[in-house]
Amino acid sequence: MEKIDFLNCDEFKLIKELMGISDEDKTDFTMDIRADDPNLKISPGGITYKGSRVILYIRDQVQYGDKINEYKFHLIECATLKAMRKQNRYDKYVVSTSTTGKFKVNRIINNRSVESEEKLHVCKHCLQKLNRQGYYFTYENFSIEEFFSVMKDDNSGNFSDLPDENDLTAPTNVYPKNWDEISRRLKEKHNYTCQECHRNFSDCKSLLHVHHKNGLKHDCRESNLEVLCYDCHQAKHSHKITRK
Ligand SMILES: [Zn+2]
Ligand SMILES: [Zn+2]
Ligand SMILES: [Zn+2]
Repeated sequence: MEKIDFLNCDEFKLIKELMGISDEDKTDFTMDIRADDPNLKISPGGITYKGSRVILYIRDQVQYGDKINEYKFHLIECATLKAMRKQNRYDKYVVSTSTTGKFKVNRIINNRSVESEEKLHVCKHCLQKLNRQGYYFTYENFSIEEFFSVMKDDNSGNFSDLPDENDLTAPTNVYPKNWDEISRRLKEKHNYTCQECHRNFSDCKSLLHVHHKNGLKHDCRESNLEVLCYDCHQAKHSHKITRK
């Protein structure tokens, strides 16, 4: 029978992560959480620990050039989340139960994803809103653990709807392998015409791109795609466009 390497199994790593224990720590380790601990719930909808509060953040952080974005994590429904929902960017968020301030992050460069664990900062909009409600949390020394315990009985600021994916289940935000084919077919279907300015690019197909409306490169449902010329495409992004 094959011996199971318990210390390397994903569920175990997850529980360690929830407890804030470093992955390096393989010795002298006692696990106080049992799988039937009522505080620990692992389901397709997400993982909750010690109650229902979770955190939202963008796990897949696409990097363009040398510019490194640092996204923030969110505690309550705030102006940023509202704006992201309006811009159809809300699906980028995943649910996390981290209490350590460290999050699983995929840095995506040239459509390749590098997994890391990064310390993220709290969203200032969330903090302002909480402090207006009479709480007192500071940006620099913000502790998620403290937040969870202070907010234990207050459900007023909960998220209006939760994203479908958590930080472990969400597909990585990269282009699928058959992207060139998908993109070529769609341009053909639209007769090489930009859906925004309606100019025709039959003679200059390389100037025609396919844009993902919600920013998720793996979401290639036709309703999420738009055939755009270079100019119209660039206008939709704040970063310089590198990929068609
Ligand atoms: Zn926020
Ligand atoms: Zn156009
Ligand atoms: Zn685009």
